[in-house]
Amino acid sequence: MIEPQRISLLAIPPVNEAGAYVLYWMQAAQRVRQNEALAFAIEQANALKKPLVVYFGLERSFSTAQRRHFQFMLEGLAEVQQTLHSLGIPFWVHHDGILAGLAKLMPSVSVLVTDRAYTRTERLWRKQVAHFASCPFFEIETNVVVPLKLASDKQEYSAATLRRKIERMIGYFAQSIEIEAPSLSTLSLEPPFKPVELSDFSQVLDSLSLEQKGGACPHLKGGETQAHAKLSLFIESKLDGYATLHNDPSNTYSSSLSPYLHFGQISAIDIYHAVKDVDLPDVPVFLEELIVRRELAYNYAWYNPLYDAYEGLPAWALKSLAYHEQDRRPVLYSFAELEQAQTHDTYWNAAQRELTELGTMHNYLRMYWGKKIIEWSPTPKEAFNRALALNNTYQMDGRDPNGYAGVAWCFGTHDRPWAERPIFGNIRYMNDKGLERKFDMSGYIARIEKEIALKNRLS
Ligand SMILES: Cc1cc2nc3c(=O)[nH]c(=O)nc-3n(C[C@H](O)[C@H](O)[C@H](O)COP(=O)(O)OP(=O)(O)OC[C@H]3O[C@@H](n4cnc5c(N)ncnc54)[C@H](O)[C@@H]3O)c2cc1C
Repeated sequence: MIEPQRISLLAIPPVNEAGAYVLYWMQAAQRVRQNEALAFAIEQANALKKPLVVYFGLERSFSTAQRRHFQFMLEGLAEVQQTLHSLGIPFWVHHDGILAGLAKLMPSVSVLVTDRAYTRTERLWRKQVAHFASCPFFEIETNVVVPLKLASDKQEYSAATLRRKIERMIGYFAQSIEIEAPSLSTLSLEPPFKPVELSDFSQVLDSLSLEQKGGACPHLKGGETQAHAKLSLFIESKLDGYATLHNDPSNTYSSSLSPYLHFGQISAIDIYHAVKDVDLPDVPVFLEELIVRRELAYNYAWYNPLYDAYEGLPAWALKSLAYHEQDRRPVLYSFAELEQAQTHDTYWNAAQRELTELGTMHNYLRMYWGKKIIEWSPTPKEAFNRALALNNTYQMDGRDPNGYAGVAWCFGTHDRPWAERPIFGNIRYMNDKGLERKFDMSGYIARIEKEIALKNRLS
């Protein structure tokens, strides 16, 4: 039974009794395990004695997404298809846009279900679908532990303010669910379009004419199995030490689960259950990142209509940055110089190469990286737009509420004012001396070089 707080009704036409099936339009939760939207759709199908179909629409217009993002996503979807088939549920992927495929399916749909997403484009798709839905259209919140609106009805200032609100609700809402085959099997149903062949998606990738910035990422494989294998590896070999070492860039003591969380290939609830009873002091530190920090970012994207714009930053930060906008900037780089990692700062260049070539960046370096873009750009607004563009284009976990909140954090969001200084005003400052004091930075550079060489061997 799905908690009612996860369920919203986006359109209220009556059930289409003549419809041939219940449809789950999968979008943000690209998995079978612990997928509350899928479980709800199965419940609806069983109650109506109709079969269930799961649908996915490929959207090539997802502006900055590169071929490697689609590859990662399709690897995950191929696995979803196999698992759904084993449950007797067909999975139809439309090649040419979400809405176009849904419009073709709609006359046959009795009840429509989707998963909740938080960013602008994803929310707009749901609005557009609600407009033409000719049956009840439910949205189920699947990608956060505590339902977002219940956690808070406003934009939260900081992790501390959200933590106070959600801490006690985590245990209650982290309910494990089992996905069981629906009563009716429907594998023989035919879609009203030619579905994408997921067993060989290289042709699909070619036909989407996607950009290939940064090249392929064969070292990052998408899918639920990979996600759960990463989680097991993390618990076995990195959780013990996470609290003290996850910030150290010369080590890889974090879970590397963010791309899987971004594509909804693993649920934060599954991760929570896997770690919560491990008897280590590192567990609460990890759960703080996974639940409080992550859900703070979701709160930010949901409640701040300007979450992806410079103007969406806190008033104190905008005021202070504006006051210092005319400050002399001793070092300036163009966007191309930044993108190509051509700065005087070897740590920053290594982080940028980690981003472009490996599709990821160590958490601590992400902060430093963003701060330096402020220092080296002509204006803070330009810095914000550059950081977001690079993050969204190259991070395998990019275009996520976490990415928008992470970039905004570099400019003061969810932080407090610090001592005033040139260019940054009251925004927190970071420098290379701080990195050197805390970490083995030559170890970080060596690690990145090694990982890039390994990846190139795989390519
Ligand atoms: C400038 C900047 C840009 C960022 N861009 C992104 C992005 O595009 N996508 C993205 O998912 N994260 C982003 N982050 C947040 C964070 O850096 C990553 O989530 C984290 O590094 C992912 O590594 P991991 O999965 O090994 O994390 P772990 O340390 O293993 O943490 C587990 C999970 O907790 C969540 N988490 C961890 N740290 C944070 C954090 N600071 N804020 C919110 N959630 C967190 C993530 O979902 C992560 O997968 C950004 C941070 C900054 C400062």
